[in-house]
Amino acid sequence: MTEHAVLIVGGGPTGLMLAGELALAGVDAAIVERRARQDLPGSRAGGLHARTIEVLDQRGIADRFLAEGQVAQVAGFARVAFDVSDFPTRHPYGLGLWQNHIERILAGWVDELAVTIYREREATGLAQDDTGVDVELSDGQSLRADYLVGCDGGRSLVRKEAGIEFPGWDPTTSALIAEAEMAEKPELGIRQDAAGLHGLGRVEYEIRAGEVIFADHGPVRVMVTEQHVGSRSEPTLHDVSAALIGVYGTDYGIHSPSWISRFTDMTRQAAAYRKARVLLAGDAAHVHSPVGGQGLNTGVQDALNLGWKLAQVVKCVSPDSLLDSYHDERHPVAARVLRNTMAQVALIRPGDARLDALRDTVSDLLSMDEPRTRYAAMMSGLDIHYRLGEGHPMLGRRMPDLDLVTAQGPRRVFTLLHQAQPILLNLGEAGGFDITPWADRVQLVDADFGGTWELPVLGDVAAPAAVLIRPDGYVAWVGEGTHVGLEDALTRWFGPPA
Ligand SMILES: Cc1cc2nc3c(=O)[nH]c(=O)nc-3n(C[C@H](O)[C@H](O)[C@H](O)COP(=O)(O)OP(=O)(O)OC[C@H]3O[C@@H](n4cnc5c(N)ncnc54)[C@H](O)[C@@H]3O)c2cc1C
Repeated sequence: MTEHAVLIVGGGPTGLMLAGELALAGVDAAIVERRARQDLPGSRAGGLHARTIEVLDQRGIADRFLAEGQVAQVAGFARVAFDVSDFPTRHPYGLGLWQNHIERILAGWVDELAVTIYREREATGLAQDDTGVDVELSDGQSLRADYLVGCDGGRSLVRKEAGIEFPGWDPTTSALIAEAEMAEKPELGIRQDAAGLHGLGRVEYEIRAGEVIFADHGPVRVMVTEQHVGSRSEPTLHDVSAALIGVYGTDYGIHSPSWISRFTDMTRQAAAYRKARVLLAGDAAHVHSPVGGQGLNTGVQDALNLGWKLAQVVKCVSPDSLLDSYHDERHPVAARVLRNTMAQVALIRPGDARLDALRDTVSDLLSMDEPRTRYAAMMSGLDIHYRLGEGHPMLGRRMPDLDLVTAQGPRRVFTLLHQAQPILLNLGEAGGFDITPWADRVQLVDADFGGTWELPVLGDVAAPAAVLIRPDGYVAWVGEGTHVGLEDALTRWFGPPA
């Protein structure tokens, strides 16, 4: 039987990111993916938020995405748009880029890292024991791995087979989405009526001065809210045509669809992200309304949190209890996403003057600077705070991409993270730290930084003398002139001393 250290079921954005992280750490990881090629028939997610762009920058691949997408202010809450251009980040914006392109670029990176992908094979069953997990494939073969990660989307077989509960809320709204040609020129843009929001747009577009400018020709992306929730049949072109006529009075001669699908606001989250040797990430762990564009972003960041931890466990650098911190840190992040999508769905629900008044009130509140800053930081993922204990405000927060001066010349913090290795960044007297027992795992960088430390929402914070940065870019320990707590933090996050 073929064996790998880690098997990932599902090569969507989450599975690809996780595979990349494991490969960077030198772990033998393989993906099982039912699709023959990476191509996605439809476009699904429309882009990336600022924190995800930062995360990709931490691996040196953000430019690949920025080169193909449209930089724009994409964050918003219940149709109130936010401008994050004043946020303290190198990427104070989002990126408009369809998911098929995001996946293609991620797959290119994973390919360079020589990850094995078993394509056109579906995982059909699994069984775990004390030393590993066996996975049955649709071609009759089996694979075995030390750990298995279900990145297999909202209907996750891995989640079901592992017996992990998926509690939450049934859908209250449903929409048809499609990409198709239209014989007539459609009314492009958003329309709101008693049934809800609808939108027509060309797949090809540009953003100029903050405005979406659709191409003159080409396939149209249709989104029509359905009158009824709960249909379980596969939607057809006839359904899309009827829905368009119901809203616009015409179907604009829709034909030649390349993709027809349905999404709802079903809201559910895995009760546990780990059951022994099986873990869940991305949509397999959480589903919710697409409002706010957070699903793919959350999945990619799940992978970033899990990758280095899993790598250290399979390499026997850390005990497998380190994996529990994955649930502890990421479950609350997605729980907050679920909550904010439910609030947004409620706010944009049409047809009631009282809801209109509530929406106006929220919009008014969000135009004030502090609420705007807080909500924009939440929606763009820049305010994520893992509860790692009391102390300096940097503890558990994202490390800013400082411009450092080192003996080797100028360096950005994010450049130092490209190989996904932890860093002890010493900003005090050079040579002030000796971490020899961890030298095989942790880079020690002596550097100078004369600027201010500014965080989204919090503003300026006291400059630390040293910080221990995890491979995911979150701060695990802050030195304020002493070494107190450093050995504990090194051991907790990067294993006992050699
Ligand atoms: C209309 C719409 C708009 C959206 N807009 C946004 C947005 O703007 N921003 C955003 O962040 N998110 C958005 N999302 C959500 C986003 O598309 C998902 O959150 C994202 O695709 C999740 O990635 P994933 O890798 O976790 O799962 P998926 O993308 O679902 O990938 C799962 C993969 O697993 C494979 N697979 C499944 N089962 C098996 C099996 N048994 N064996 C082998 N392979 C298997 C599938 O083929 C697939 O490749 C949107 C979603 C929709 C529907």
